[in-house]
Amino acid sequence: MAPTNQSHSGLSRLLQQVRLPNSWLPEMVRSLGGVSPQEIGLLLKSITSKRRPKVVPPINGDFYDIADTLSAEEQAIQQQIRTYMEQRVRPLAAEYWERGEFPHELVPSFGRLIGETFGRQPYAIDALGPTLTGIACMEMARVDASIYTFFGVHWGLCMGSISMFGSDAQKAQWLPAMQRFDLIGSWALTEPNIGSATAAGMETTARQENGQWILNGAKKWSGNAPIADVNVIFARDVTNHKVAAFLVERGTPGYHVEKLEGKISLRVVQNADIRLENCKVPAANRLPGVTSFRDVARQLAVTRAAVAWAMTGVAMGAYERTLDYANQRIQFGRPIAAFQMVQNGLVQMLANVTAMQTMCMRMSQLYARDGKISHERASLAKVFCGEKMRETVSIGRGLLGGNGILLEHEVARYFADAEALYSYEGTHEMNTLIVGRAITGIGAFI
Ligand SMILES: Cc1cc2nc3c(=O)[nH]c(=O)nc-3n(C[C@H](O)[C@H](O)[C@H](O)COP(=O)(O)OP(=O)(O)OC[C@H]3O[C@@H](n4cnc5c(N)ncnc54)[C@H](O)[C@@H]3O)c2cc1C
Repeated sequence: MAPTNQSHSGLSRLLQQVRLPNSWLPEMVRSLGGVSPQEIGLLLKSITSKRRPKVVPPINGDFYDIADTLSAEEQAIQQQIRTYMEQRVRPLAAEYWERGEFPHELVPSFGRLIGETFGRQPYAIDALGPTLTGIACMEMARVDASIYTFFGVHWGLCMGSISMFGSDAQKAQWLPAMQRFDLIGSWALTEPNIGSATAAGMETTARQENGQWILNGAKKWSGNAPIADVNVIFARDVTNHKVAAFLVERGTPGYHVEKLEGKISLRVVQNADIRLENCKVPAANRLPGVTSFRDVARQLAVTRAAVAWAMTGVAMGAYERTLDYANQRIQFGRPIAAFQMVQNGLVQMLANVTAMQTMCMRMSQLYARDGKISHERASLAKVFCGEKMRETVSIGRGLLGGNGILLEHEVARYFADAEALYSYEGTHEMNTLIVGRAITGIGAFI
């Protein structure tokens, strides 16, 4: 039906009502050319509906103002990381995720970002202090959990091991270049046959021969390994059966790295299957500070605390993207954000995010107060945040309807990526058992 002069003046009134200039009229009339009077009526009703707010509130995943606990200088660092993630990473995230490739093009600028924010010399795993380090991880994962994981493996696990357990010579050789991201690090504890039980059953062996170490065995999942210059490999010393750690450099004979394919989560992160076949490592590449699995566990408490913050970031990002979608998606003539059940889902998501943030804040405050984080406090945060993250991304994915499974609308990526965070750095069950042992005094692992 062709629009009449009468409907033109109606549209003109409508444009004034919604505060749009009359210059929009010709374009609008053109677009409405093939639309029925009933549909135009529904459209008018939806645009003029009293339920549509004149000003849409800003989307804010920090409802309890946790950023307020930071100094102005710290807030500027948080903002710098957020801006980088929004401007540089977000536009590329879905495309690389779908291809299962790592965005090498980002490494120089990401390295500069970390240099300008974390880059105090000498290297420290939580260079920004426990709270801001946690918030930085949250900010990365708020946009892309894969980039957070790339950072977590390189900075927290690999550099963290060298810093905590390395000799002065090893630190001097590796840390400055890794801090600049000129060299990339990986970390390999898990094995094909041994995941949760690495403390008891590691199968990879290390034996000393003619002043060098010979490694044999296999590793699975090692993050960044296909692109890394150095990998921290854990193996059981055949003489005393204790866990030891070695810096294995790319290209070492007997060190075979194969990219792990077929992941449905964190597809940008390059994980690997590794075979060690009489892999000869110089004696100088053994990390002297690792003499048993207890040392590894000490490091894992720190990195698990960071993962709890990252889980918070995943939930926060999913909440913000879902709210944005709900404000824009029109059904039955209204934005879906106007429906009670949708609001219920959004509020549940926000409540989860807020609970995760406040728990992580307190965990980091205790870490700062005590100068260390206990296993059980880090594990409790990972257990709680893991559960709430999964619930949050699942609600978000549902609220997007069919678009909730399309990468284009982002929440699908959060939904899928949450699954890897839920399992890595100790599964939900393992972390639960760590807390269970602490509160009952009884280890229930076996
Ligand atoms: C994306 C991704 C990245 C990773 N990156 C790395 C990395 O960089 N380096 C690295 O070393 N590893 C890495 N991992 C490995 C990760 O740490 C392991 O997947 C994890 O420790 C669990 O081991 P598993 O997968 O072998 O599971 P399993 O140990 O086989 O567990 C299977 C299930 O059994 C449960 N279970 C096991 N034992 C018990 C018990 N006693 N009581 C109750 N339940 C139990 C577990 O909780 C789990 O639900 C990564 C994993 C993923 C998914």
